[in-house]
Amino acid sequence: MMSVARRLRREENRTIGLVPTMGALHEGHLSLIHEARALCDVVVVSVFVNPAQFGPNEDFAAYPRDLTRDSALLAEYNVDYVFAPTSEEIYPAGFSTYVTVDGLSDKLEGAARPGHFRGVSTVVSILLHLVRPNFAFFGQKDAQQSIVIKQMVRDLAFDAEIVVSPIVREESGLAMSSRNVYLDDQERRAATVLNRALAQAQSLYAEGERSAPRLIEAVRSTIGSESLARIDYVSLNDADTLEKTDKLGDGPALLSLAVFIGKTRLIDNVVLGSQKNAAVA
Ligand code: AMP
Repeated sequence: MMSVARRLRREENRTIGLVPTMGALHEGHLSLIHEARALCDVVVVSVFVNPAQFGPNEDFAAYPRDLTRDSALLAEYNVDYVFAPTSEEIYPAGFSTYVTVDGLSDKLEGAARPGHFRGVSTVVSILLHLVRPNFAFFGQKDAQQSIVIKQMVRDLAFDAEIVVSPIVREESGLAMSSRNVYLDDQERRAATVLNRALAQAQSLYAEGERSAPRLIEAVRSTIGSESLARIDYVSLNDADTLEKTDKLGDGPALLSLAVFIGKTRLIDNVVLGSQKNAAVA
């Protein structure tokens, strides 16, 4: 593991970009790599299914893994280094230091998945220390994750800039996700309701709707029309602080949701009051 860091440090006069992933790569990941390639001399992609960010009843064991396919894709994209450590390399016996970003980590995904962000911020800290990138690239798909990581980088004075890229969607509007492989054909069609609901809220917002309860209700009712969908949460929060929003003001608001389609839990979001990250209309 040390050799990765040593090899990279030799290239210290060149900009290093890190793209942390859990593998099972898709166009969403590739957009981050594309961004890294444009901004950095050396691009490092980590592929690590991080056990610390999965709850005991979550899909750690079932999570799709295909390092051979991922490595071939990464070679095509001119990635300089693929860092695919084992769990023991990241968490050797006796490992006992965790990073927790208080407050932000308990909301939304953190409330639904206790301990999830502790696992995320811990592994990202380790990766930032090992790779020492100038830039690290994350996706708006995991909006809260990007916010948590930005806060951690500020608070702990990591010498890396966090770059967040828009959500990449399939033509159907479904946000790309490694977990989409869990969906059968019928579920995949049903899952398009997430983006439809967000796009509809975006239209209502564009028409002047500023009431959070009414926007949330509109999303809930659209998703409710899909019999395979079961809502975990739909929420409107300040896009920076994640404080709950009742009435949308001038600042951007994050409309985010988690929905089960059959047994698969999917997340998606849109930022209202911002040109960025538009849902597909
Ligand atoms: P994961 O492998 O799911 O942990 O994702 C690795 C990185 O890719 C995270 O920063 C995600 O937010 C990002 N990502 C995943 N899906 C997408 C997507 N559809 N569009 C943009 N970024 C994504």
